Amino acid sequence: MANSLEEIMQRRLKDYLQSSGTISGYVEDFENLFTELEASGYSYSIRHSRQGVGIKFHSKKLDKAPEIKDFGSPFQALKTTYYRCSFGYYDNSQKDEQSDHPGSKKRRFHIKDTKKMGCDAWLTVKCVRVYDDFSISKMSSMKSLAREKLKEALQSSSPPTGHLRFYIAASIDHSHPQSLSELNMRIHPTLHKEIEKIVKSGVTSTREIQFHLKRFIDNMFGEDSVPNATNRHFILPNL
Ligand SMILES: [Zn+2]
Repeated sequence: MANSLEEIMQRRLKDYLQSSGTISGYVEDFENLFTELEASGYSYSIRHSRQGVGIKFHSKKLDKAPEIKDFGSPFQALKTTYYRCSFGYYDNSQKDEQSDHPGSKKRRFHIKDTKKMGCDAWLTVKCVRVYDDFSISKMSSMKSLAREKLKEALQSSSPPTGHLRFYIAASIDHSHPQSLSELNMRIHPTLHKEIEKIVKSGVTSTREIQFHLKRFIDNMFGEDSVPNATNRHFILPNL
C-alpha cells in the first residue's frame, strides 16, 4: 500500500508543520523526496519558476511559496519552483478558456465535466544556499554586517560553498482519482491532448471517450504494433 502524502512529508521534512491544509518544512535532498512522492502516486509537473534575488535571513510566506523563518544563518535565494499535481492538467486549460470565452454554453459544460478529473494539489519548492559560517552567532555581529561580509566573500577568489536547502509548501489534499494514484499511472501527453480534443468536441460519456482513444492508439501505431497493455503510458485511463 502506498504511503500517504502526509506520512511521507512528516517523515522527511525538517521543521514539519501542518496548518490549514498546507504542509511545510525543508529537506536537504529534494531529488530523493520527489522520487518517493512519485513512487507513491504523487506526481507533480512544473508550472513555472522564478529566480531568487539577494542574501536574506528570512523570507515571507507569499501566496503558495513557503515561509523561511530566521534561523540565524544568511542564505541566497536561488530559485522558487511551482509544481501542480500531474493530474491537474485539465484544470489549467479550463481557466484559460473560462477567461477567453466566458459566455459559451458548450465550454461551460466542458468546464463542469472535466472538473472531477483535474486535481488542484500544488507543491512549491524554494531552493536556497545556506552559509552557516556567516551565521550571526559565529560572526557575533549584526545581520547587516554578516550580510556584507558574506557578499564580500562571495566575490572573492575562493567563495564559500555553503549548502543547499529546499523549503517546501504543499497542499495536503489530492482530489485525483485514487485508482490512478495507486497505480502511479501517467498518461502519455499525446493522449492527454487527445482526451481534451474529444471532450471539447462534445463527447462526454466515458465509454465513448475510451472507444475514441482505443481507435486513436490503433491509428497511431498500426494495429500490429500497439503497445502492450502493461506499458502504463498507454493504458487507457479508467475514467
Ligand atoms: Zn493530485
